[in-house]
Amino acid sequence: MPLRAKVASSVSRTAAALSRAAGRGDGSVIGGWIGLKIDPDLLAHLSAGRAIALVSGTNGKTTTTRLTTAAVGVLGRVATNSFGANMPTGHTSALAKAGSTPYAVLEVDEHYLAQVLEATEPHVVALLNLSRDQLDRAKEVAMMAQLWRAALVRHPDVRVVANADDPMVVWAATPPADPAQGHVPPHVTWFSAGQRWHDDSWVCPECGSTIQRSGEQWWCTGCPLRRPQPQWTVEDDGVLDPTGAWHKVQLQLPGKVNLGNAATALAVAAEFGVRPVDAVSRLGVVTSVAGRYAQVDRDGRNIRLLLAKNPASWLEAFDMADVAPTLLSINARDPDGLDTSWLFDVDFSPLAGRQVLITGDRAYDLAVRLDVNGVPFQHVRTFDDAVRAVPPGRLEVIANYTAFQDIRAELDRVN
Ligand SMILES: [Zn+2]
Repeated sequence: MPLRAKVASSVSRTAAALSRAAGRGDGSVIGGWIGLKIDPDLLAHLSAGRAIALVSGTNGKTTTTRLTTAAVGVLGRVATNSFGANMPTGHTSALAKAGSTPYAVLEVDEHYLAQVLEATEPHVVALLNLSRDQLDRAKEVAMMAQLWRAALVRHPDVRVVANADDPMVVWAATPPADPAQGHVPPHVTWFSAGQRWHDDSWVCPECGSTIQRSGEQWWCTGCPLRRPQPQWTVEDDGVLDPTGAWHKVQLQLPGKVNLGNAATALAVAAEFGVRPVDAVSRLGVVTSVAGRYAQVDRDGRNIRLLLAKNPASWLEAFDMADVAPTLLSINARDPDGLDTSWLFDVDFSPLAGRQVLITGDRAYDLAVRLDVNGVPFQHVRTFDDAVRAVPPGRLEVIANYTAFQDIRAELDRVN
């Protein structure tokens, strides 16, 4: 690396360490910020010489990044931004901290994908899904898909691993080739990770016609856009690879959605030459991801934490949760987005028949929503009140971002 980049990298590591020592989080944002102030090209310098995978999408990127890191670990040391700092400051800090590694797997905020593609020149990019998120500041889904598509046109050499079940992702991953500009279509490997949430992809991003669905198939009624044949699919409790071989996947993470994340991780690792048969057992070592899916025993209750930040992830959480007493917690602080009207996009009727408790800064928004759905609930002021209000056994906790962090703090920052 050039001297300036070396200095920037060293200062970045020191700043992050000081921030950690001062108890101000893991320091990855401040460390990366200072590093980039000293050398604006630091991320590019730190990326040079590494084989990199980027993982982006609205939901599941932290978990998929963790699973992919485990899978690529078959080949050697892997740098990763495991604390979920998924903007360029976090990437810079993660790479500076890891030192020299042959591989890196980086989670990327979907708004920053173009910028990070430019800086890191990855070998492969994984595109998971696109759905509405943080209504007061996130881009419209169609606009995000357009940004991704334009970024991929500028990087024809990057290999793309993309979700065949999400029409917006499929459209983003298949920009038209323009031979006059020297553009070739990207090399895409398709996986099927399912799409439970359909309400952001009823309208074709190419032509504006209706998208129709039947079983797992979907197609545009006005143009050739349709579900491509996926090479990696989930079947029963395992993953079918492109050769037709089936691999049993034993995860410590719940739900079909995480089997889809495992299929994605194996598909990305395969782009580096990792055989699924070598990687699949490593996926089982991932227990929880920054508190997500963590289980804690307290006063005879087995408490499980599920993070859900937007309508699509609430639907996934309802599917993952056992039929057991369930605590819902909603805040609307800055990291959550200030607008809670998205609660009305989620169908809460799957909770009917369960004991439902609500808490958080915006518990009353939840109360109105549950009332509309006809789901009885009880409001509790504190997490301890919730634990006392349910019988011994499983308590499912579904919370959005800062509400989740509050409860995690109650449980001594469980990982
Ligand atoms: Zn169309």
